[in-house]
Amino acid sequence: MRIDLTKLIGTYGAEIPFEGQVDLTGEEMYGAYPFQSPVTYSGRIVNHLGVLRLTGTIKTVLNTCCSRCLKPLDILLTAETDVILSRDAGAEEEDDVFPLEENAVEVEDVLVPALILQVDMTYLCKEDCKGLCPICGCDRNETECSCQTRQIDPRLAALASLLNRQDEQE
Ligand SMILES: [Zn+2]
Ligand SMILES: [Zn+2]
Repeated sequence: MRIDLTKLIGTYGAEIPFEGQVDLTGEEMYGAYPFQSPVTYSGRIVNHLGVLRLTGTIKTVLNTCCSRCLKPLDILLTAETDVILSRDAGAEEEDDVFPLEENAVEVEDVLVPALILQVDMTYLCKEDCKGLCPICGCDRNETECSCQTRQIDPRLAALASLLNRQDEQE
């Protein structure tokens, strides 16, 4: 959503509220497309004694999965932004300043990066998720397979296969 700031610039105390939705379904993160739920935002831009300040909230439900057991997970994700909009050259050097190239702002350019910053690389369904068995693929939270008792240190794997061969010969 593009907001024209010309009216706001001359009037101290003036404000422009905004509210909208952004489509991030095509946004790829860590090899997945986690933004399949609606992404909504709202906020306002205020002329505070000549300084344009944008405050806003953006939120969605992130559609991801547990990195250990691959169970689908819906994570509520919210980001708050509070930035000064500035046309001063070099303003982008400062924190909390969003540089403007004209007297208008695309609010999604301010809000979406804040939301994306909130996304973690991995999520777990629970702190102690046991994950999937690497051998039979069963969910170890639900099933106890016999594979885990036979897990072998890779350094001993060669020795083990040698012993197995001897077993077969006997
Ligand atoms: Zn899990
Ligand atoms: Zn198993």
